[in-house]
Amino acid sequence: MQAPEKTDRELITAAQAGDRAALDVLLTRHMGRVARFGSRMCSNPDTAQDVVQDTMLAVVRHLGDFKGDSQFSTWLYTIARRACLRKFRKSKFAPEREESLDAGTAHDTTLVDRATPPDERAEARELDRALRTAIAGLDPQSREVLVLRDVEGLSAAEVAEVTGANVGAVKSRLHRARVTVRSAMAPLLDGESARAQATPACRDVVNLFSQHLEGEIDGEVCRSMQAHMDACPRCRAQCDSLRQTLRLCAMQPAEVPPDEVTRVRRAIQGFLDSQAPAG
Ligand SMILES: [Zn+2]
Repeated sequence: MQAPEKTDRELITAAQAGDRAALDVLLTRHMGRVARFGSRMCSNPDTAQDVVQDTMLAVVRHLGDFKGDSQFSTWLYTIARRACLRKFRKSKFAPEREESLDAGTAHDTTLVDRATPPDERAEARELDRALRTAIAGLDPQSREVLVLRDVEGLSAAEVAEVTGANVGAVKSRLHRARVTVRSAMAPLLDGESARAQATPACRDVVNLFSQHLEGEIDGEVCRSMQAHMDACPRCRAQCDSLRQTLRLCAMQPAEVPPDEVTRVRRAIQGFLDSQAPAG
């Protein structure tokens, strides 16, 4: 039987005591998530790679200060977010967009199972690309909230901790971002009924549904929303496509190409060697 995997906490304690192997396991374990966060936050691949390396080096530098009052992953995203902000500031906070929708298709196998038939594979790639483009089109504040909550799977309270905003602000940004991303995905996800003209009774059902998913609306509002959805194919279909969009967000893979892992590891080794006492 294999020894059980060490928990983050165990690895952190060992790494804080100078165990380089434990540090390596810890960083490798979390590198994929940082890479995913970085690549959704800055769609320029070079910038995203820099974010991974900057984040990992900052973790190594400040691990001694990590007290464990928060989850290691929350701390990690806080550092990664700061690394992203520095990149944004350098580019005058201009949103970076993908240069072309076709860029990166050759090696873009994200979301695609090799066993999937070619048609479905093409469709999955198209959905994945559309989702990335939709996320890249959000303003940076909305983008970070949606990525942390719906792609990285943090709770709204954890997103608030990472971004330094209050939970209420996080949630209202989240709902707006979801509505925007769903609309951007609509041409690929929506059927005929979702495109029907809204009636006055439709109100802001997608936003409301998003609030419902966060457990924010009370019984009365929930019942009236449900009654409306039962009677309105348009709103039902739009909420379905929000659900699908969120499923796609949650399925975004957290992988780092092997040569990128090697590059980051080498940078960390170099840093640790430079810190080691001479002799
Ligand atoms: Zn409706």
